[in-house]
Amino acid sequence: MGEIRVLPEEVSSKIAAGEVIEGPHSIVRELIDNSLDAEAGQIKITVNNGGKDYIQVTDNGRGMTEADALLSVQKHTTSKISDIEDLNTIATMGFRGEALSSICTVSAFTMLTKMEDGNTGTKLTYCFGKELSSEPAASNTGTQVIVKNLFQNMPARRKFLKSNRAENAKIKDEVLKKALGFSERGFVYKADDRIVLNLKPGKNISERVEDIFGKDLNDNLFEVYHEDEKFSLRVFISNQKHTLSNRNGQFVFINRRPVFDRALLYTLNNPAKGIVQAGRYIYAFVFIEIDPSIIDINIHPAKKEIKIKTAEKIRSVLFSNVERLLRTHYYPARFGSQETYTVSSEYGEGQRVFSGGTSILRGTELSESFASGSPDIFTGPVVNGIEFDDVSDGAALGPADKLADNENRIPGPDNIIPDLDNLLFFRGVVFNTYIVFEARDFLFIVDQHAAHERVLYEKFKRGAKNLDAVKNLLIPINFTPPRAKYADYLDSIDAFRGAGLELEPFGDESFNITTVPAFVPEKGEEEAISYILDEFNNGKMTPDAREIKERFIKLVSCRSAVKEGDVVKEPQARVLLRELNNTQIPAVCPHGRPTFIRVSKENVEKVFKRR
Ligand code: ADP
Ligand code: MG
Repeated sequence: MGEIRVLPEEVSSKIAAGEVIEGPHSIVRELIDNSLDAEAGQIKITVNNGGKDYIQVTDNGRGMTEADALLSVQKHTTSKISDIEDLNTIATMGFRGEALSSICTVSAFTMLTKMEDGNTGTKLTYCFGKELSSEPAASNTGTQVIVKNLFQNMPARRKFLKSNRAENAKIKDEVLKKALGFSERGFVYKADDRIVLNLKPGKNISERVEDIFGKDLNDNLFEVYHEDEKFSLRVFISNQKHTLSNRNGQFVFINRRPVFDRALLYTLNNPAKGIVQAGRYIYAFVFIEIDPSIIDINIHPAKKEIKIKTAEKIRSVLFSNVERLLRTHYYPARFGSQETYTVSSEYGEGQRVFSGGTSILRGTELSESFASGSPDIFTGPVVNGIEFDDVSDGAALGPADKLADNENRIPGPDNIIPDLDNLLFFRGVVFNTYIVFEARDFLFIVDQHAAHERVLYEKFKRGAKNLDAVKNLLIPINFTPPRAKYADYLDSIDAFRGAGLELEPFGDESFNITTVPAFVPEKGEEEAISYILDEFNNGKMTPDAREIKERFIKLVSCRSAVKEGDVVKEPQARVLLRELNNTQIPAVCPHGRPTFIRVSKENVEKVFKRR
């Protein structure tokens, strides 16, 4: 056959060289890549002791002739490219011709391979780079590579390998990524005689996700697809039922290659701000298909990073699609729909008692689902056992904060929807903060601050005011950043400008701020600016225009919202509820905390042992 050739020096020298074999997981990754490139439909991975002592990868791919097998373990030998131009159209996982030769020099290496042509197979054995034998051997069609005693010839390297458990975790991660990128192929992964993954071939992405992560995750995944002439993008994300405290559930693939791209990951998580609770991450599976000629995969020896020419466009499409999915699906249930789900455990004890849903009635659903009920149910007595503030007279609602802005206050009584009046009973405010409503069989306990924050946040975002407008400060605000941060500020002037803050260098070490976003209320400018600068100084915010603006919006929403302890009367409480109801994500404040909980009568009765 003689498909494999030695890359000419001028080609091999242009390929990003580097250590491809960091540990057992890299061997697994490279061997699976080879099996995938050989069009194997079934790939079996077996490891012992974290792969340190034994790794076997067996495939039913196209196999090799004896001559090719012998060439394949030499340096810079590949069947996948022959000149550097081929990298522009590369459709295979491998192309450097380095993996087998590197693996061969650091292990006791055996390869058994046979093509489909009826000839016998070939068996090669190498020991730390030295050929021991090459002989005909019976074999199924395909290739099997066995790697033993990794790094035994390099004690220092071997010492750096982690515990079996840690190495196994890394191996599993590699297998997972390949299995997600190639859902049509079958994978079996065995570690120390235990089958860890047994994934049948012929699956689509969603079936593969289900096989790996379970039905419940798959049932709570939402998909969006975008395609234009430059690229296509398929995204699956989870709703609030499935989140993790780290990003281990997030996978990004470019042309089926798993990539770790900080900018893409950042873009993926950015829309979650204001929806997903801080510190939690959604599951996400992102598949980008793009013309290979506009990407450069040759910048990282382990092929983890990729340079993309249309990166900016891809990021913006990713952002808007993820944002839309989150908005519509993250909190799927609405108050009044049949769907119920448990308040997730981060919200603490409440879960045990309040097993009701956390969605809220939309105005229309409200009338449909409740108005038909018996009128009696709306005239019941005050809920037993709950004491509430007497708010029958007194102070008007007034956000006490200095960022307060008249327009952002809860609107007055004239905006009240009559239906809501009839359907929900205002039962008072408890602990100076929680507004209690009763509706037929439910109690709603609304956190007045969180709810108002959500309302204001969405108002700002909707562009009730133009988010991009800036206003000039009559007197520029001068500030001197910590010395070590000065250069960062200089580098970030564009990002700040994009968020509405114009920083003008003043002298050698300070800046004048001459503009702020127009939505920052009168007299609140200084506080808003100092908050943003503090966040930046403390490394809590990256210099990204979108993120800076998001911080402004959250801050202004938070500062303008009624506070814990502010007196809220029935008319304002009703308007607040209606406005909350009309937001896109009523169930959480922009920081991801719940805005209200729903307690069912049934649950109360259970607690009192009446049921
Ligand atoms: P690369 O994958 O970058 O080409 P490798 O060193 O991983 O470099 O492999 C060298 C060559 O050996 C491949 O180009 C391919 O032709 C052949 N090869 C390796 N593994 C297999 C396999 N499992 N089945 C068939 N051919 C293989
Ligand atoms: Mg390879």
